[in-house]
Amino acid sequence: MTKHVFITGGVVSSLGKGLTSAAIAMLLHRRGYRIRMQKMDPYLNVDPGTMSPYQHGEVYVTADGAETDLDLGHYERFTGVPCTRASNYTSGRIYGAVIAREREGGYLGKTVQVVPHVTDEIKAAIRALDGPDVDIAITEIGGTAGDIESLPFLEAIRQYRHEVGRTNALFIHLTLVPFIRAAGEMKTKPSQQSVGILRSIGIVPDILICRCERPLTAEHRDKLSLFCDVERNKVIEERDVAHSIYEVPLDLAAQDVDVYVLEMLNLHVRPLDLEDWKDMLSGLTAPDRPAVDIAVVGKYITLRDAYKSVYEALAHAGIGHRAAVQIRMVESEEVERDGAEARLRGVDGILVPGGFGDRGIEGKIQAAGYARTTGTPFLGICLGMQCAVIDFARNVCGWSEAHSTEFNPRTPHPVIDLMAEQRGMTSKGGTMRLGSFPCRLAAGSRAREAYKAEEISERHRHRYEFNNRWEADMAARGLVCSGVCPDRKLVEIVELRDHPWFVGCQFHPEFQSAPLRPHPLFREFVAAALRTRAART
Ligand code: GLN
Repeated sequence: MTKHVFITGGVVSSLGKGLTSAAIAMLLHRRGYRIRMQKMDPYLNVDPGTMSPYQHGEVYVTADGAETDLDLGHYERFTGVPCTRASNYTSGRIYGAVIAREREGGYLGKTVQVVPHVTDEIKAAIRALDGPDVDIAITEIGGTAGDIESLPFLEAIRQYRHEVGRTNALFIHLTLVPFIRAAGEMKTKPSQQSVGILRSIGIVPDILICRCERPLTAEHRDKLSLFCDVERNKVIEERDVAHSIYEVPLDLAAQDVDVYVLEMLNLHVRPLDLEDWKDMLSGLTAPDRPAVDIAVVGKYITLRDAYKSVYEALAHAGIGHRAAVQIRMVESEEVERDGAEARLRGVDGILVPGGFGDRGIEGKIQAAGYARTTGTPFLGICLGMQCAVIDFARNVCGWSEAHSTEFNPRTPHPVIDLMAEQRGMTSKGGTMRLGSFPCRLAAGSRAREAYKAEEISERHRHRYEFNNRWEADMAARGLVCSGVCPDRKLVEIVELRDHPWFVGCQFHPEFQSAPLRPHPLFREFVAAALRTRAART
C-alpha cells in the first residue's frame, strides 16, 4: 500500500515549500523508498501554461507534456524521479473534471457540491499516485493555511488521512518563525496561529518545520511543541541556507526529518548515503576554477523565477566543472536601446532563453548576432534558437526582413514559421507542441560531441519551428542543422560551423539538468565559456 505525506504551508507564501518537499522526498528516495511527488495548486487556471511569468514564474514541462508548476522542477532535480501529468493538479483542473461529469449526468441527479464532490475529486487525484511500484507519495498543498482557495484541498487531505489511518498518512506543516528586529527576538505566535487554523479544520501537523533566519532556542522549541501540539523533537529548524538550495536536504537530514517520517509511517529506517551530494556541494561552495560570466538575455530578467530551470542548469554545469558561474541578467530591451556591445562586452558566454511575444525580440536577435560575430560561446533555447536563425538569415544570408511569422506574419523570408498542426488553432491552453520528442544528432556536430549519443530525447514547448525551405541556403553559408526529429524532419538543433561554440536548440534542455547530472549542452556551453575566459586572461 502506498503511504502518503502531505505538506502544507503557513504564515506567508514563498517559504520554499517546494524545495522542502523536494528535499524530504529526496531523503526518503535515498533511503531506498520508491517515491512519487505531486503539487496541488489552488488557483482556477487549469494549468499554469496560460499564465504570464510575472504571475507564476517559469512553466515547467514534464516528459509526458504537462505544463506545470515550477516546483516540479525542484522535485525532479532533487530526486531524479520523473514527474507526470498526475504530479500537478489545480482547482481549475479539479473543478473542470467535476463540471464535465455533471454535464454527462454522472452524478445521477444529485446536487453537486464542494463537499463531497470536489473533495472526492481531489482524493482521486491523490490516489492516482498509488500503485504497487510506489511506497511513498508526497503531496505539497500550494497556498497558505487560511486561504479560502486551499480549503477544499485541506479538507480532502484531512478525510484522506481519516480513511487510511495514522500510520499511512502524515502531515508536515512548514511555517515561518520571523525575527523581529525592533524586539530583537524571534516570534512563534504566527506559527501557533497558523497551526490553530489547521487544527480548526481537523488537521494536527505531525512535524513542524520552521523557516527562520536564526537558530531556534530550546525555549522556542518548547513553546512551539506545546502550543502547536507537536512532539518536541518534531519541531524542526530550517534556516536560510548559506550558499545553495541544495544544502536543504543535508540540514533536514541532520535533524532526522526523514527518520521521523519513516517511523511514523511504520516503515523500516534504511541507511542513508549522501556522500555524492556532499561532494557536489563542495564543488559549488568552494569551486577550484575561476568564475565565468554568462549573460542571460531575456525579457523577464527582473524576475528570478521566470528562467528558474535555466539558472539552475547553469549552476549544475558550473558544479560539473567545479567553476562558479556568475550570471549577468541582461534585459533584452536594453540591448535594443544601447546596442549589444554596451551590454554584453566582456561576458564569456551568452544565453538567450525561451519566450513569447515581441517585446525585446530585436535585442535577443542582436545578442545572438553579437555572439556570432565576436566568437562568444552561445546557447539559444527555443525562442533563443529562433533568434539565432533570424540573425543568421538577415546578416549572413542578407535577407534583411527575415523574421518569425510570430512577429511579422508578412515577412518575405519566414525562416521561423508556425508548425502545420498549429494552423487554425484558436485555443491557447495545452495546445503547443509539448513534452518529449526524439532527436537524431548529426555525426561530427557539437551536439553529438556533447551528448555522445546518436539519438536523444528532449522536452518541448512551442508553436513555431525552423522553416525547412531555407535549410540548404543556410547550410551553404555555415548554419548546420545538427539535430532533427526523425519522424517529422523538424529541425531541433542548429549550430555554426565556423564558431568556437554556437548552438541553438528548439527544445528546453534546462528541464533535464540536475546537480548530479549537468546537462550535456549546458556543460559544453560552460566549458566553452571557461576556454574563452582562459584565453582572455
Ligand atoms: N514563441 C516561440 C514559439 O512558440 C518560442 C517558444 C519558447 O521559447 N518556449 O515557437
